[in-house]
Amino acid sequence: MSANETRAIFVAGMKNAHAMENQALAIMKPQVKRIENYPEVAAKLQQHISETEGQILRLEEILTSLTEDHSSLKDMALSFTGAMAAIAHTVAGDEIIKNSLANYAFEHFEIAAYKSLITIAELSGHAGLVPSLQANLDEELAMAAWLDENLRAVTIKFASLKEAGATAKV
Ligand code: MG
Ligand code: FE
Repeated sequence: MSANETRAIFVAGMKNAHAMENQALAIMKPQVKRIENYPEVAAKLQQHISETEGQILRLEEILTSLTEDHSSLKDMALSFTGAMAAIAHTVAGDEIIKNSLANYAFEHFEIAAYKSLITIAELSGHAGLVPSLQANLDEELAMAAWLDENLRAVTIKFASLKEAGATAKV
């Protein structure tokens, strides 16, 4: 494999990561607006939204340094898909559970994406960019761990609110 090809893989991976983070915002922002009964989930989502905005800035800094245009229609299409998924979960009455599972899956997708991207950065002579990508990865790992640790508590709270007849309010 030529150095040029590996560089192209890295640039494509960077663009995909940028699109992924915009999708993350499109998933989390509609969720946090609707939460009323789970303030600890809302606070964590709000924190991760802020982190995600910082992640996007890190990625854009790298994309600019690679002298690539980072505006893309693909980004917009993925954001739209993310928003649709969040809205779909509002219908069934178990929105907080479905969103918890979707967020759990999404954070693990992000973890895998950054692990692969860091490997490609090393292979393509961009080892100097690894600390920035590792900073994003560390935030995804922390968010995934929080979701994992809180899944049981959220599920118990959902069940007890249901028992108390507290409607389908998320
Ligand atoms: Mg992220
Ligand atoms: Fe994330």
